[in-house]
Amino acid sequence: MERSDLVSTLKGIGEQREKRLHRLNIFTVEQLLTHYPRDYKDRSQIMKINELIPNETATFLGQVRGEGQNGGRGRMVFTRLKVYDETGSVTVLWFNQPYMKSSLKIGERYLFTGKVQQKGRQLEVVSPECERIGENFAGGRIIPVYPSVEGLSQKTLRGLVEQALRETADTLPEELPLWLRKGYRIAERNFAIENIHFPKTEQGFYDARRRLVFEELFLLQAALFRLKQTLEDSGEGIRLKRKKAIWEKAAILPFALTNAQKTVLKEIEKDMTSGKVMNRLVQGDVGSGKTAVALAAAFWTIQNGYQAAIMAPTEVLARQHYETFTELFAPVGIETVLLTGSLTAKEKREALAKAASGAAMMVVGTHAVIQAGVEFAKLGLAVTDEQHRFGVRQRSLLSDKGENVHTLVMTATPIPRTLALILYGDLDISIIDELPPGRQKIDTLAVNSSYRKRIYAFIRKHKVEGRQTYVICPMIEESEKLEAQAVLQHTGELQRELEGCRVECVHGKMKVKEKQAVMEAFAAGEIDVLVSTTVIEVGINVPNATIMLIENAERFGLAQLHQLRGRVGRGSEKSYCILVSDSKTKVAKERLNMMVKSEDGFEISEMDLKLRGPGEFFGLRQHGLPELKIANLSRDMPILKEAQTAVAELMERDRALTAEEHQPLKHQIEGYLEGKNLEM
Ligand code: ADP
Ligand code: MG
Repeated sequence: MERSDLVSTLKGIGEQREKRLHRLNIFTVEQLLTHYPRDYKDRSQIMKINELIPNETATFLGQVRGEGQNGGRGRMVFTRLKVYDETGSVTVLWFNQPYMKSSLKIGERYLFTGKVQQKGRQLEVVSPECERIGENFAGGRIIPVYPSVEGLSQKTLRGLVEQALRETADTLPEELPLWLRKGYRIAERNFAIENIHFPKTEQGFYDARRRLVFEELFLLQAALFRLKQTLEDSGEGIRLKRKKAIWEKAAILPFALTNAQKTVLKEIEKDMTSGKVMNRLVQGDVGSGKTAVALAAAFWTIQNGYQAAIMAPTEVLARQHYETFTELFAPVGIETVLLTGSLTAKEKREALAKAASGAAMMVVGTHAVIQAGVEFAKLGLAVTDEQHRFGVRQRSLLSDKGENVHTLVMTATPIPRTLALILYGDLDISIIDELPPGRQKIDTLAVNSSYRKRIYAFIRKHKVEGRQTYVICPMIEESEKLEAQAVLQHTGELQRELEGCRVECVHGKMKVKEKQAVMEAFAAGEIDVLVSTTVIEVGINVPNATIMLIENAERFGLAQLHQLRGRVGRGSEKSYCILVSDSKTKVAKERLNMMVKSEDGFEISEMDLKLRGPGEFFGLRQHGLPELKIANLSRDMPILKEAQTAVAELMERDRALTAEEHQPLKHQIEGYLEGKNLEM
């Protein structure tokens, strides 16, 4: 068996199982082998039955000697069975699993794990996990616990991994060259894969984990390094002419720029006049005015005779940008075109022609702009908005649409500085650390659903005053269909409760055109209450909306709540954010309180980090990179540093990766950014 074989070549995989494995992103045998455990259970200590201690969880071997008994009535049926070893017997018991009776065979031995309880004079174990023991049972062991999906049991996954390990043993190639493994004390790959699933010794486990973490971080760093190298080697950047300061040129803006915006524009100006290619990340809290920065930079680029393009992650946001740019550029004779997936064939043809001829100097779009077939006459500046929604690779695809194009990427996700340096090693960073003047504080309230009637009255009152409301329901990850149902149902309820309000919704099951129509009607004030999931999280701007109501607020990340809240408070009216949650856990309460107390995105994300732990916070996904499978960026900092040193050494030895011994590695590194692009 080859590692690249499909997992369906393993024994025991039918259509159903295959589908479930696909949901875990497991398509090949190798992907199965690199589906690492999230935890382990210690089954290495096997107790004799007479050593079992009440109230402790234990693993023991027991033989089935007689038939199990089903009993109980109504809703409570149980299966009771006695199992034996040479020292005694114990009762095992399952509730509502009558099939257990026939699945345990008389005469067979099983390994049971569960909590032991004293019942009268007998010991009893309720709902133990059990595993049949074959002829050549070699004793207990540490067993892996995998991330899984419904319908795929740990036992099944474990069995498949064991099978794959047996049949591919020693055929997994070693990508890391010998000098590196020796120099950095890195265990061999096959050893590591085997021991990460079924550690034979404690040391074996540590060595295995260290190897796999190192490998992962090494690849990440090496890939980012290669990306940066391509940029550096890409030759001279377009040199723009500088007459007046760039923000003065942007006199087309309807407001004076903040000092923070000006500072960032100065940095941009410096880059774009330097003769080098600009690669800059602009980080700024929601509402800090990143669009204006992009506008000014685009305007300046166009004045210099080059085109500018901006790519946004959603259709809705792209259209909004299109309107903003058109409104400001049209009066000064600059044509803006929109390029998205939902254009008609004719519209698309026209837009493509205008971008290619240079008739349109400004192009706004979704990832439709990075598709093959999109050409620019003379692209000078590529902007990626809400960068964290795109893959690293996608961002470079946009700048590939021209030669030595300057790139600007914008994000509202605050990242600690050290992490930013790792993730965006290829970028320079600017921060907009000031909000435009006149912003009102948004009053935030955390309440439970007993306040519902009062909240509805509040929304109605605001409607009478001409204001609008957003209502956000949580996303349902597994199913767009369920999510749409939830949104529709809630919309129905609000339509009944909010007399006199026009309530509409957008959800993932709607066609782009339909969504667009609703969004436009909301922006035009024809809808009072807009119900949706977090699809409006990014960038939407309706200054007349003053209430943000978030249902099941405990289910959202704090950074996400902060983004959502940033959708209101954009006009001159007082705005409110109402967080509804019935969760009683301490952490949930603390997190929501944090939202009530603070309006500072950085402070909030730091707090989130403390309350939720670094694991989730450091999700690379959030920052447009492939998720790490095993490394933990907060815990594995020391290994990360070593990996960085190793990458530097590799680049010193063989920068172009031409040596024979580096070919597998080169292949891996290139595949790393190509293959693992993100979903949108
Ligand atoms: P974000 O950084 O979240 O993308 P936007 O660019 O959407 O923020 O800006 C938010 C709002 O602030 C918009 O309505 C925009 O017109 C306004 N704005 C941006 N800069 C300024 C400024 N210097 N003065 C006043 N209003 C501004
Ligand atoms: Mg924005």
